[in-house]
Amino acid sequence: MTRSSAFDPAFPSSWYAATRNEDVVLPPLEGSHEAEVAIVGGGYTGVSAALHLARAGRQVVLLEAARIGWGASGRNGGQVHVGMRREQEWLEAKLGPDAARQLWAIGLDAREHLDWAIREYGIACDLTPGLLHVDHKQRYVPHTRRTVDHLREAYGYEHVRFVERDELGAMLGGGNYHGGMLDMRGGHLHALNWALGLARAARQEGALLAEESSVTAIEHIGDGWRLRTDRGEVRAGRVIVAANGYLRGLVPEIEARVMPINNFVAVTQPLGRERAESLIRGGYAVSDSRFVVYYFRITPDQRLLFGGGENYSYSFPGDIAGFVRRHMLGIYPGLADVGIDYAWGGTLAVTPHRLPYVRELRPGLYGIGGFSGLGVLLAPYFGKLVADAITGGSPAFDALTRLPVPSFPGGRLLRWPTLVAAMSFYALRDRL
Ligand SMILES: Cc1cc2nc3c(=O)[nH]c(=O)nc-3n(C[C@H](O)[C@H](O)[C@H](O)COP(=O)(O)OP(=O)(O)OC[C@H]3O[C@@H](n4cnc5c(N)ncnc54)[C@H](O)[C@@H]3O)c2cc1C
Repeated sequence: MTRSSAFDPAFPSSWYAATRNEDVVLPPLEGSHEAEVAIVGGGYTGVSAALHLARAGRQVVLLEAARIGWGASGRNGGQVHVGMRREQEWLEAKLGPDAARQLWAIGLDAREHLDWAIREYGIACDLTPGLLHVDHKQRYVPHTRRTVDHLREAYGYEHVRFVERDELGAMLGGGNYHGGMLDMRGGHLHALNWALGLARAARQEGALLAEESSVTAIEHIGDGWRLRTDRGEVRAGRVIVAANGYLRGLVPEIEARVMPINNFVAVTQPLGRERAESLIRGGYAVSDSRFVVYYFRITPDQRLLFGGGENYSYSFPGDIAGFVRRHMLGIYPGLADVGIDYAWGGTLAVTPHRLPYVRELRPGLYGIGGFSGLGVLLAPYFGKLVADAITGGSPAFDALTRLPVPSFPGGRLLRWPTLVAAMSFYALRDRL
């Protein structure tokens, strides 16, 4: 398993990078190291696995190709979404009621884990309650009502309620949405500060984190593994591959089932409190029913952070601000006079059915990813679960490894053309 080490380590010029709490630069790995566990990737999954392994007294080395939080974990919408990418009814129908309940319990535990980590390590990441899922088509509204009833009645989840069109109109100054669901356990946070806070906690617990240390090869030697970087190597009994959408050929087995997709975010200039509140009242994060979801929220410095639009390749559009702005003005045409101060892209990873990919690929080699746009809660919690699995066993981790994850049609090379055709169809359906 090999790949080239080429990676531009600088953070994108994002609002997150501009407002991050700390700028600690960690030295690259030099020379030979031994560890009980080596981790590839310094996003939420990797840093949280490092934290929990180090708390359990394990010797851990984490290798990050660029900077901690440089990938999706420092670039995302910051939306805190409770549950899986698929609704409970879908999970019940496809996997059966017991597996669906187990996944729901994992989703709730992931939410608890966020509160725990913030409290335990004093992570300042602006966690703010309230996530509104809104329907851009009238025909989706009955389904949303049923989902709310089902979560309240079958799962006893009382944090969620249906929002009628009139109330929604008063909450949102745009979008002409028809109805929605408000989840007060959902919400939003500062994505990069959440990642950096977990990393600080991992270092505090004794984990060694190295930046600008791209893993170019993972080799099985003796009863363990050797990871090579340009300047050093680590020998470890176990390896966790947490490179998600940035894997780029390192472990083809994972990439057959976990595919990168680029998604884009723009942040306006400061709007002032009054204008910001005219766009979204109540401080909620908003995420809509489009197949390529629009998600937006107001930042603490009163800007609109708006995510929308995707592409499928290793390159981003030349003018990301213009690309996202078109989508943003579709929802808020009144912002035509407002400038965009930051715009960036990031790469997430999806699986064919949008359930996460969790596997022990060979004894001692773990692959985790494919959160399909919902990693703010799940990725750090799955990092904990793999740590638990290594240190003593985890029934939740075992259950996740049993979830079927089909491979993409066309394999690693042809999956994008197949996906582009499918996505174009769904994107067209969004507009009908
Ligand atoms: C634009 C965007 C918006 C999103 N919005 C949301 C949202 O609002 N809510 C939500 O829940 N989720 C959202 N997501 C998804 C979420 O960000 C991800 O699911 C989550 O960050 C995944 O974390 P991770 O640690 O698995 O991967 P990443 O954060 O991508 O980390 C992987 C890391 O691995 C490193 N790496 C790769 N290869 C190597 C190598 N060979 N050697 C060493 N290091 C390597 C990369 O540099 C990278 O830092 C969004 C994603 C994007 C891109």
